[in-house]
Amino acid sequence: MTKKFRAMVVSEAEGNRYVRTIAERGTDDLPAGEVLIRVHYSSLNYKDALSATGNRGVTRRYPHTPGIDAAGVVEESSAAEIAVGAKVICTSYDLGMNTAGGFGQYIRVPAAWVVPLPDGLTLRESMIYGTAGLTAALCLHRLQQAGIAPGQGEVVVTGATGGVGSIAVGLLARGGYRVVAATGKTQEREFLEKLGAAEVVGRDAVDDTSGKPLLSPRWAAAVDTVGGNILSTLLRSLKPAGAVACCGLVASPELHTNVYPFILRNVSLLGVDSVTVPSMALRRAMWSKLATEWKLPMLDSIAREVPLERLDPEIDRILQGAQKGRVVVNLL
Ligand code: NDP
Repeated sequence: MTKKFRAMVVSEAEGNRYVRTIAERGTDDLPAGEVLIRVHYSSLNYKDALSATGNRGVTRRYPHTPGIDAAGVVEESSAAEIAVGAKVICTSYDLGMNTAGGFGQYIRVPAAWVVPLPDGLTLRESMIYGTAGLTAALCLHRLQQAGIAPGQGEVVVTGATGGVGSIAVGLLARGGYRVVAATGKTQEREFLEKLGAAEVVGRDAVDDTSGKPLLSPRWAAAVDTVGGNILSTLLRSLKPAGAVACCGLVASPELHTNVYPFILRNVSLLGVDSVTVPSMALRRAMWSKLATEWKLPMLDSIAREVPLERLDPEIDRILQGAQKGRVVVNLL
């Protein structure tokens, strides 16, 4: 029997415009899949804002319900390993891209996309992390795998007040690293220091325009959420054997660099993609760490909660780079 529910629907309008409305939908409208989930919470990510504004690189077909993150309770399941009533998390894969996403009270997805909610996290907390938290965790994991340990020097995080950036600051500080937060919002120094940043610098400090092939080595490592010239600057200012975990493009998807950092300083450029996480085992391991040894004590303080009806202006705000921390969407 179809269930009616509320969802954000993005539709194409005349003049290449995209309009967002809150509409009633039915579970019959959802795609095929083994698991029907009643979504309790979702969260806002930069990619959702792209989907909500007609970015065809993210979403090919409209009308569409964005939301790459969802956490809720299983209402129907034809998969033996996923029980009705189980609390679960679903992030990335195709959710919210071309599969109706978490900005609706129900999603239907393949069983292979579903992660059991780990002990130590509530559904709401899992969405404070959301894809941003998973991505920040994967960045830390990649840096650790590359041999970057606390004590080797400073680790800089760019886009530090944003979703991925703020959680990366918190996770690295919790892991014992000396974290430098690079931000365009230096007025948010207190927010970043509470997350564990030892120092807060303006964006200019990591945006070199001298064109020098190499810069003075400063950073043991970096988490970069912005790309473009800032990523190029980071590569040229890493210490020998340093590494950058590259996960974002809010400044630019371009990267102009040279080989000197690689062949004269042994540095590594590490790609991070939360969609194609190499295995479900790694995805679950990251969620488990976020729930236990990596759990941020101040998790609640980085989130603001909005109902579906007040999500619309938040989408514009994230596109302007003006969000601080995470926006959790309450779909109860
Ligand atoms: P947010 O908007 O929350 O954070 C981005 C932050 O970047 C802003 O808050 C701002 O922080 C900074 N910023 C914004 N515009 C610029 C600019 N023009 N130049 C330099 N810095 C800027 O986004 P998210 O944290 O959700 O996502 C960040 C990036 O990571 C996005 O590109 C997103 O697509 C990507 N991403 C990638 C994933 C993956 O799997 N690889 C998963 C999730 C996100 P401040 O003012 O502090 O500098």
